Parts: sequence; structure tokens; C-alpha cells
Amino acid sequence: MLIEKKDKILANFKCQNSGNCCKAGGYVYVTADNIEKMAKILHTSPIDFRQTYTKKDNGWDIIASPNFNTNCLLDENNKCKVYEARPLACRTYPNWPSIWQSDQTLLEESKSCPGLKQAISKVIN
Ligand code: SF4
Repeated sequence: MLIEKKDKILANFKCQNSGNCCKAGGYVYVTADNIEKMAKILHTSPIDFRQTYTKKDNGWDIIASPNFNTNCLLDENNKCKVYEARPLACRTYPNWPSIWQSDQTLLEESKSCPGLKQAISKVIN
């Protein structure tokens, strides 16, 4: 089973900057600390950052969701404009429980993530 090789696959994972995970329409939640750091990178204030880039969803601050800001904070080259201060979910990708539920969920995710596809191929070949 592929998912039993999770540690090796993750060790071989290298982001290929496709930007697909950022554009997948998932929820990207942010903390006040994230907002402060992202605002600093964009040379704006946390208040302006909130007004421009965030929305409340069930009481949480988000910067992207299936119906909001679907390209999140990617620039025209698919690079995250706030990479150094990106939120936890972005930092931990692709180590998300939903991806590692089964070989099928892992392979499905790898269709849109060239970095994950490459890491799997390195480990199985
Ligand atoms: S904050 Fe950056 S890394 Fe995270 S989803 Fe948005 S664009 Fe992608």
C-alpha cells in the first residue's frame, strides 16, 4: 500500500509551484497572527489586509473558500505573495489527513499536484 510509505513520500515531496493546491477551492483559515505577518509582507496594515483579503465564515477569518477569492494570494506566476507567512494548512500540505485516507485519495490528489506525483514515483520506482 502506498499510504504505508507516507513518511518516505513526504520526505521526497518538493513543491513544483503549480499553484493547484491554492486554487483547489478549499477553505484557507487565518489567525490574527497570520494576518499581522501577511499584512507586513504586503506593506499594509492588518486592518487593511482584513478589509481587502479576508471574509468571516462561521466566525472564522478566511482568505479563500470555494466561493471567495478562489486564487487566494497567488501572483501571476502562481507564487504565493505571502509565502513566508502562509497559514498552517498551506505549510503542512500535502500532509493532510484527507489526502492520506487511502491509496485512492492519495492518487486522486497526485493528479493535480506534480510534486506529490513525482514523490510517489520516486518512492515506488
Ligand atoms: S496563502 Fe499562499 S500558499 Fe496558502 S493557499 Fe493562499 S496562495 Fe496558496
